[in-house]
Amino acid sequence: MSRLIAEPKILPGRTAAPVVARAMPSNDAMAGCPVHELRAKLRRSGLRPTRQRVALGWLLFAKGDRHITAERLYEEATGSRVAISLATVYNTLHQFTEAGLLREISVDGSKTYFDTNTSRHHHFLIEETNQLVDIPDELVDVVCIPVVPEGMEIASVDVVVRLRRKA
Ligand SMILES: [Zn+2]
Repeated sequence: MSRLIAEPKILPGRTAAPVVARAMPSNDAMAGCPVHELRAKLRRSGLRPTRQRVALGWLLFAKGDRHITAERLYEEATGSRVAISLATVYNTLHQFTEAGLLREISVDGSKTYFDTNTSRHHHFLIEETNQLVDIPDELVDVVCIPVVPEGMEIASVDVVVRLRRKA
């Protein structure tokens, strides 16, 4: 049976490298990218690239994977002379989360972090500094999960391993 999809042709003198970079699942591909790529990323996620979304998106996605609170992002934004309210920062973070650009992580119920790494993974929490550090999904083996209540299913299992300095 013949294949209907044509193989991509690489023209002489051209390199396929940019295509490979865009196909990478990691946010590393976004590091140092021009603003137009960020605007395209927002559009692909169904978000109109407003000035404020682009400004916050730049702070969030241009530096590799990070875990950030709304308050910290607000400080960074005002420090970069982005005129924005804390309420708008909150709203934008939740819009990004709903669009799949961020993952929301609640620690202690009160502290909420927004994670630019949306792939499946777990976290160390360094209690002293409230810092989150990624643990690759394959390094955590959740052996026993109790039977869930009738009519419910497991949406996800998120492990937070709390760390403190040895006495
Ligand atoms: Zn993470």
